[in-house]
Formats: sequence, structure tokens, C-alpha cells
Amino acid sequence: TPGSEVKVFGRTRPTANFAQDIIEYLPDGQTVNVHLRKDSKKGIVNNQLNSWSFRLDRILYDASQEEVYNSVAQDVVLGALDGYNGTVMCFGQTGAGKTYTMTGATESYKERGIIPRALQEVFQEVDRRPDHIITVRLSFLEIYNETLLDLLSTVREAPAGGSGVMAIVDEGGGVTVRGLSMHLVHNEEEALNLLFEGEMNRIIGAHTLNKNSSRSHCIFTVHIESHSRILSDAKYVTSKLNLVDLAGSERLGKTGSDGQILKETMYINKSLSFLEQAVLALADRRRDHVPFRQSKLTHALKDSLGGNCNTVLVANIYGEAAQIEETLSTLRFASRMKCIQTVPAVNEHIDP
Ligand code: ADP
Repeated sequence: TPGSEVKVFGRTRPTANFAQDIIEYLPDGQTVNVHLRKDSKKGIVNNQLNSWSFRLDRILYDASQEEVYNSVAQDVVLGALDGYNGTVMCFGQTGAGKTYTMTGATESYKERGIIPRALQEVFQEVDRRPDHIITVRLSFLEIYNETLLDLLSTVREAPAGGSGVMAIVDEGGGVTVRGLSMHLVHNEEEALNLLFEGEMNRIIGAHTLNKNSSRSHCIFTVHIESHSRILSDAKYVTSKLNLVDLAGSERLGKTGSDGQILKETMYINKSLSFLEQAVLALADRRRDHVPFRQSKLTHALKDSLGGNCNTVLVANIYGEAAQIEETLSTLRFASRMKCIQTVPAVNEHIDP
């Protein structure tokens, strides 16, 4: 059953140098206190101890991939099969574990992430619902410096319309990426193959275009359509399940400052700041004034960030003293996201 708020989780990547004196998880499982001490970062000149407290829906500390899937994504996936749009996003600095959380360690089945587990669950549900005809299509969009890239366009059987010039268009109350290839899949294995081909294309593309793949946003979307087999029942539901690996949120300075990095960072900062503006405007319940079209990311996520949608954010945190500024900015963003109220509704249609 869909919730009414964006759910925000925190996840800390295991590290040998976990900053215990700086990052304090309270036993309630929801609160993290960050203490900035005089010597914890150079540049802090006074002796004062600054502390911040952030309360999220849940903090997943030392959690396994299975626990993360179960608490973060399972409800959103099951909701999508009932016709509710859903989005799971990972946010944080490069190296904090976004891709690990979303895709997982490809060489280890046990360590597979949210996307492979979601695909497994979708097809298990298809088997559990023999009274429905459920079609599953996949698309995989990358946004790099405000350019749209189709991570599955080279895969055979891309339907006409794929791989051309892409554009995000508002259509029938939702958004569609025109020109993005859609791939019908019949089982988990076919779906996983596409995921891995897309991941591979992301890496190859990064090489060819000389770009760093951690500096792009990736949106893996499962498009679901579910028809009842009962002929008299003409109602059917559609939904989109967006699984989003956001670009590394680190600031300039951390990343160096050659021309390309500067440009990437500028685009990322802009799109993340527009994402935040959209989120804040949504929290204000002034949907009419939400500036979705300011960036490709917010436009692509327009129907997935509140409104008819279950939205979940995972804030990936590094947890080392040297990363404290990034950790603070990730947690600030996460706690602002917690304010959005969403009112999910089933996308119901009638067969003509
Ligand atoms: P990001 O996508 O945020 O840049 P990655 O997901 O690539 O970060 O993670 C960086 C490295 O840390 C990878 O080698 C990944 O396997 C490892 N890692 C991240 N999170 C975890 C975790 N929770 N448990 C074990 N290893 C992790």
C-alpha cells in the first residue's frame, strides 16, 4: 500500500576508518548526529563543537543487500504491480555505494542489488497472478551533461523509434522519453541480460566519450501493464518503476578542476539543485509551480517525485572523517526530501 511521504533511508558503506567520533547513530535506528570537531577538518578555526542531528525514516547500518531491498524497495515494487508508479533513488558522493546499492556487485549473486532483486520479484509476482496478463518492458536512460543517452539502443530488437534524437515529452499526465528504446522481457533472465548490457554500455560509452560514468544520472525503468484475464473486466493498470542511480554529488574542489570535470560538476550541481528545488516546491504543495522542466533529470522524474507515486530515497554515506562535508550535504538533502507529501493513485485505464 502506497505511503503518503517520500521515504528516506540512510546507508553507510563499511569502511575501516569509520568516523565514530563524528558520526553517531542513535539506537532508535532513525537518527544520526554529526559532530564536527575542531581538528576533524582543516579550515575549522574555532574550538567550538558543531553538531547536527538528522532524522530519517530508517538508517541501514551494516545492512545486507537483502535487508536493504526488503526495507527500501519491496513495497515500491509490489505497488508498481498494482499500478502505482514508484521511484527508488540513490544519492550521495562518488564511492559512497550508490551503484552497489542499486545494481550490486555483479560477480556475487548474494551481493546483487535492488535492480536484480526487483526484477526477480516482478516475475515472481507475474507467476503469482495467473488471472492477469502482465507485460514488462525495460528502458535504461543515462543523463550526462544534460544529454540523453539510451543505454539499450545497441541491443537487438530495439523497436522503431529507438536510438534517434531523444526528447522528454509530457504525455497523458505523465512523461515519456521519446526515442528511448523499450524492450519487452518475458522472464528474469532476459531482464537481467538487458540490465548487464546497459551497464556494459554505460562503461563502454564512458570510455568512448571520455567521461566518468559516476558523473551521470542513470534511470532504469520497468514499465508494467497488467490486464485482467476476465473478459468482462476491461480495466487495466499501467505503471513505471524507476530505479535511479544519481550522479556523484561531491562538490568542486574534491574532484579537481580541469575543464571537463568543471563542466560535469556544473551540470550535476545544477540538476541536483533543481531536483532539490522541485522537491521543496512539492513539499509546499504548489504542484503548479514545481520547476520540473529546468533540467532533464527533474523532467524525466516529473511523474515520479511525488503525486501519483511511491518515492524512496537512499542517502549513501561514506562515513569517513575526510568526507564529512559531503556527508553533511548528503544528510541535509535527505532530510529536506523527507518533507514531500505524495498522494499515490492507481493508473487505471479502460480497454476500448
Ligand atoms: P558509487 O556508485 O556511490 O560511486 P560504488 O557503489 O561504486 O559507489 O561503491 C564504491 C565501492 O565500495 C565499490 O567497490 C563497492 O563494491 C563498495 N561498496 C559500497 N557499498 C558497499 C557495501 N554496503 N558493502 C560492501 N561494499 C560496498
